Amino acid sequence: MPNTILIVEDEPNLLAALEYNLRHEGHTVLAAADGESGLRMARTMSPDLIILDVMLPILDGFEVCRILRRESDIPVIMLTARGEEDDRVRGLEHADDYVTKPFSMPELRARVRNLLRRASSSQTYDFAERSEIIRSGDLTIDQISHSVTLDDKPLEMKPREFSLLAMFATNKGRAFTRNQILEHLWGHDYIGDSRTVDVHVRWLREKIELDPSKPRRIVTIRGLGYRFDG
Ligand code: CA
Repeated sequence: MPNTILIVEDEPNLLAALEYNLRHEGHTVLAAADGESGLRMARTMSPDLIILDVMLPILDGFEVCRILRRESDIPVIMLTARGEEDDRVRGLEHADDYVTKPFSMPELRARVRNLLRRASSSQTYDFAERSEIIRSGDLTIDQISHSVTLDDKPLEMKPREFSLLAMFATNKGRAFTRNQILEHLWGHDYIGDSRTVDVHVRWLREKIELDPSKPRRIVTIRGLGYRFDG
């Protein structure tokens, strides 16, 4: 069964190899190159599994894993460095599994499969920091079923529109630059055009705004980006 896997790894070659291999297995792959954006993506995108490197910029893998564990049960595989016994012990304290670098892709894929199988037979994920259902006026966003209703009527949402709306709604009043939105929706390595963001915002407005030409929910901040006002 295809799943969404978040890879947090700052080494571009390894990241590319992991992405390639997991996509080949049919998974949707998200990528982050530092601990902070990895944590943010884990919170907003609810991946089914996280592959987390230990040595990462900004926030290291142990820290990310420790924070995640307080909020969710998403399975985590840590990538640790060879011969660092301390790493293994600390890593395993919070992670579900670990592999020691260098590892073979078949080994990693097997571990991913095992963990996903274990996870699917046990629980649903639960983020303590965000509510499963966000209500804003007549808009209701259900992050478990990925459904949105406006005035009790269901809205059709593409996955990226849903992610964009969920990101806005969980950060009401906060301004996002187009680059932040790009990174959030397409991952760290996406070389994108910020107009892609504008297009998605326009689609979203057409669905949730009373008058999409005079948006009140998703407002444009000139020269910066967008903000969700409710
Ligand atoms: Ca690293």
